[in-house]
Amino acid sequence: MLKDIEGIILRERDYGESSKILDLFTKEYGVIGIISKGSKKIKSKLSGVSSRLTYGLFHIYYKEDKLSILNSVDIYNPLLNIRNSIINISFATYLSELVHQVLNQSMKKDEIYNLFINSILKINESYDPLVITNILELKLLKYLGVEPILDRCTICGKSTDIVTISADKNGLLCNKCRINEKLVDLKVIKYLRMYYYLDISKISKIDMDSKIKNAIDDFLTEYYNTHTGIYLNCKKFIDDLKMVNIYV
Ligand SMILES: [Zn+2]
Repeated sequence: MLKDIEGIILRERDYGESSKILDLFTKEYGVIGIISKGSKKIKSKLSGVSSRLTYGLFHIYYKEDKLSILNSVDIYNPLLNIRNSIINISFATYLSELVHQVLNQSMKKDEIYNLFINSILKINESYDPLVITNILELKLLKYLGVEPILDRCTICGKSTDIVTISADKNGLLCNKCRINEKLVDLKVIKYLRMYYYLDISKISKIDMDSKIKNAIDDFLTEYYNTHTGIYLNCKKFIDDLKMVNIYV
């Protein structure tokens, strides 16, 4: 059946001599596999390289539970500010791999789709890719069933006298319940809460101290390592960028 489906390509892999299988993330069907024969139709519009992150309206012969076949695609946004920046493409690639993993563990495909598209668009609009990445990482934890507790002490439930946050203990700690966990700047907690509640599509300005930004990223990295079992090779490149502060 011929269908027009909005989506974004999360991954591509070779299929035979000249064809590719594309993992197309759609709001309606989650991730569907489509065969792109010759792959020329997409490539010519994007001047080469990978079809990953092609975002548009895909005209496909849809086959339920089988590989669909790509006919053509109308591109909504060529995402040139991502494609032309090694830093942005690294973050966007990491997010597409991460979302791919989260989708295996959650039924809320449409919510995850909106979060992902909005994050990609904001990175393309040149907002700080680390901040956008961290916001999405934090929001995705809900779909992995391992949200941190950010509104009260994770041990005693009190919401006053909060002194730090611990990945190991799932969230905030008050002065009484903290044992030897490292203290963080309270701005880290304030911004984490903000990341959690804000609507990515409405971001119009990001102005953050790089120390706070990095502390938030450290927390989320540790949190993912401790609670999710997700490890992605492409994260390492981002961590290296952070070490030299090159993305700032
Ligand atoms: Zn407590």
